[in-house]
Amino acid sequence: MAIPEAALAYPEPRRRSLQIYAVDPMIARLSGNEVVTITVPYETLKAGPSGELVQIIDYDAANRVFYTPVDLDDPTILAQDGLAPSERDPRFHQQMVYAVTSALLENFERGLGRRFRWRGADRLRIFPHAFQGENALFDDAEGGSLRFGYFRTDPRNPGRNLPGQWVFSCLSHDIIVHETTHALVDRLRPLYKEATNIDVYAFHEGFADAVALFQHFALPDLLARYIQANRGDLTARSPLVELAQQFGESTGRGRALRDALGEPPDPSRLANVLEPHARGSIFVAAIFDAYFTSYQAAIADLIRIATAGSGQLPPGALHPDLVARVAGEARELAQRMLMMCIRAFQYLPPVDVTFGDFLRSAVTADSDLYPADPFRVRSALIEGFRKRGIYPDGVSGLADDAVAWPSAAELDLPPLDRSAIVEPLVMETALGFRSRGLPKAGADVETKAAGGVAKALWAYAKKNAVALGLSPKPGLKIRVQAFHAVFRMGSNGLLKINVVVQLVQMADADVRAKAAADFGGVVLRGGTTLVADVDGEIRHVVSRPAPALDSADGDAAVARLASVADFVDQFDSVDLPGPWRVDDLDAAWPSAAFRQGLSNRIAASLTLGQLDSGFPW
Ligand SMILES: [Zn+2]
Repeated sequence: MAIPEAALAYPEPRRRSLQIYAVDPMIARLSGNEVVTITVPYETLKAGPSGELVQIIDYDAANRVFYTPVDLDDPTILAQDGLAPSERDPRFHQQMVYAVTSALLENFERGLGRRFRWRGADRLRIFPHAFQGENALFDDAEGGSLRFGYFRTDPRNPGRNLPGQWVFSCLSHDIIVHETTHALVDRLRPLYKEATNIDVYAFHEGFADAVALFQHFALPDLLARYIQANRGDLTARSPLVELAQQFGESTGRGRALRDALGEPPDPSRLANVLEPHARGSIFVAAIFDAYFTSYQAAIADLIRIATAGSGQLPPGALHPDLVARVAGEARELAQRMLMMCIRAFQYLPPVDVTFGDFLRSAVTADSDLYPADPFRVRSALIEGFRKRGIYPDGVSGLADDAVAWPSAAELDLPPLDRSAIVEPLVMETALGFRSRGLPKAGADVETKAAGGVAKALWAYAKKNAVALGLSPKPGLKIRVQAFHAVFRMGSNGLLKINVVVQLVQMADADVRAKAAADFGGVVLRGGTTLVADVDGEIRHVVSRPAPALDSADGDAAVARLASVADFVDQFDSVDLPGPWRVDDLDAAWPSAAFRQGLSNRIAASLTLGQLDSGFPW
């Protein structure tokens, strides 16, 4: 009997298994077993690895040499879950950055509710051995690249490493996730590299750290091991709650660089901690405070069952079944909170983000999908932020529904046009789930469709500018920055579809002239994020009006100008090192009158590489 050839073809695998260091090589050596195998979505790869979204380019600029690229599709490598972890083989380094980045991208797609793409046909280029130095960074120039440094440990205080040994930042799970998250945030909100309040850069840093920490809880085995070791206490010091231990110890700090716990909550720190990484740590601590609180609520029943109601665990090792169940709860909750953090992007304004905006967006996103909240994750989150002095502006109270963004019903906006806007976007997202690849033959058709949607959205924004928090002045152009449909599964098992649009607008010329004189190079823009239902009805409008001088432009616009002025004053009153300062004042402010008293003026807009170059990633 002849079997048709097509039926004989083997089905393509869905997942690819790859070995990685769970934390970093130092922790792997100390614990004897912290090497894990993770799985990532399968794609055919070229040597590099080079795939659809990421391309690893192993050029060592310090030694001017290309290292041989790994071919993960080689049958020998496929049959053993990739190369075994090795500090000495650059091909394993390439494999590790590919694996960790791919796993993170998959999680972001889950949270975003759509296929993720970089701009156009760009891929994220990753250089695992980009330079010699104690750092790593995301450089947003030319389509974006991640650059990892390598260095010798501190000879006098190398921590638990050999004095003078090489340390590779591309082998730290946390540093890879942190830098990739910068790239993702930059893709989702490119204007967050313009600081207009003290939280903007700190949000970039804090969010990247929070994602790196949450990814720990997704790693197989690691969680169960530390739950056993610390008897269920996730707040005990362990690689679960610390970031990049090897990096911290090998650079002479004697400890992890940053962690989930932060300083004890103290609302006064919010006014005094301005450096983006340090301020970001307050944000991280607020989120993990909520995680640890909700975790206790989630495992309370298991502990009661295990202790016959006393709540007091007996001495000695915990029963492995209990550890497995507790680890399961911890993992599920971490995933839920990570998804909540990623989903928050649906509501964040296009410019001028604050920690309070994030809190409002996360609460809105979560209550939309999970109206019931048995472990009280949302109130724990609000409480975690409150204890650190972070309150969203303009809320009437701290209950869930007061913190969530208000409904847009009272704005009386007309619905988005179904056939011109909603349907093409929904169709595009739906097709994206079937195949990730950019449509090749149909690329023209796609660009045309996107052009049509952009035009219709622009006309809508122009017509409804005032209700959308934008200025209707004819000279002030409105730009449609991004638009897409998102698909999500609610807790009731039903699909929820939204359309999300970002609109931006520069401030008026007279305001910008004033800003150039008073505020150095701060860029003044407005922006609105609009969230609609699948029937086109507008659900939420989150707007940040362009700063204005005249109260005819609205109180919110005038208030924004005042808040930028406060920010610049606050900034001038401290001496922050590094990229925040414009070093070459003569070039930045050619007029001598402006330069008087200017020593710490903020740079207009940083490349994100600069953000991480003045401070360890
Ligand atoms: Zn960073």
